Amino acid sequence: MSNKLVWPAPTSDVPDRGKESAFQKGSAYVDGKIIPIEEAKVPLLDWGFLRSDACQDTVSVWDGSFFRLTDHLDRFERSVQRLRMDTAPVTRSGIHRIVHKLVAVCGFRDAYVQIIMTRGRPPIGSRDLRLCSNSFQAFCVPYMWIANPEKQETGMALHVSRRVRIPPQSVDPLVKHYHWLDFEMGLFEAYENGADTVVLSDLDGNVTEGPGFNIFAVIDGVLRTPSFGMLEGMTRRTVIELCKELNVDVIQENISFERLLMASEIFLTTTAGGVLPVCSVNGNRIGSGSVGEQTRRIHRSYWDKRSSGWYGEPVAYTQKDTSEP
Ligand code: PLP
Repeated sequence: MSNKLVWPAPTSDVPDRGKESAFQKGSAYVDGKIIPIEEAKVPLLDWGFLRSDACQDTVSVWDGSFFRLTDHLDRFERSVQRLRMDTAPVTRSGIHRIVHKLVAVCGFRDAYVQIIMTRGRPPIGSRDLRLCSNSFQAFCVPYMWIANPEKQETGMALHVSRRVRIPPQSVDPLVKHYHWLDFEMGLFEAYENGADTVVLSDLDGNVTEGPGFNIFAVIDGVLRTPSFGMLEGMTRRTVIELCKELNVDVIQENISFERLLMASEIFLTTTAGGVLPVCSVNGNRIGSGSVGEQTRRIHRSYWDKRSSGWYGEPVAYTQKDTSEP
């Protein structure tokens, strides 16, 4: 097998997407309307903005197909319920229609679609959460990579911070939320240490997750991933399923920083790029310092299966009517 990572051939945009299109850079669903992304604005008094009182889900489109859209919608519903947002202005089938239209109006073959529920705002003069009407927004932009294919080929430099990821006792990690100040301060720490990205620890010093990804490591020859204190990423779940098919055991358990340093391979999993190899942790080389055998196999299998339509739902490109989402 070649030492190179393999991606499906780059896809092209649908032919009728004119360069002049107002939706060239993306689309948004705001206030019940689909508009060009650059016209989308945040309502200032929404507690989603003022209090980070919001949840979201992000689904990718590759080669004209959504990946695991039903599972993303399930996770979004669970987030909404856990945050006790029970005045949602849209139904599940409405959201389903909106995400298809958001991609269709842009004509993107490879895209990133985010759906968002915010608390909304109470009447002016009140701080009573129960008086808020929840608000739904969404947007579609071209596909996003945490590490682009060139970077994946060399592997990412990871910084593990002792900064604690907001603990599950404070904010439910099963909700996909926007509490990211811990990650963002950690990212500055990573940049200062010459690394590309960061993973935060839990209160006991175990690694948790990073800004937009979960982590896997081969330690003592066995693939492992943290079991606690992180979002159950859709790509993490996908990799666990793939490993079953590939007869690769995966152990879900606590991983301390010291054990992580003993790994022979490490990779990150995310909707924003799939399976991302890591070549060093806090300046220590991991394995041979290049992409490991297991990582390459899982990476290949992930993209092969996506190309074959696994968990795919083709975008309804003909549904471009923005007047009635
Ligand atoms: N952990 C956090 C905190 C995230 O925000 C994300 C994705 O944005 C992930 C993990 C990876 O999840 P997924 O594979 O569903 O993209």
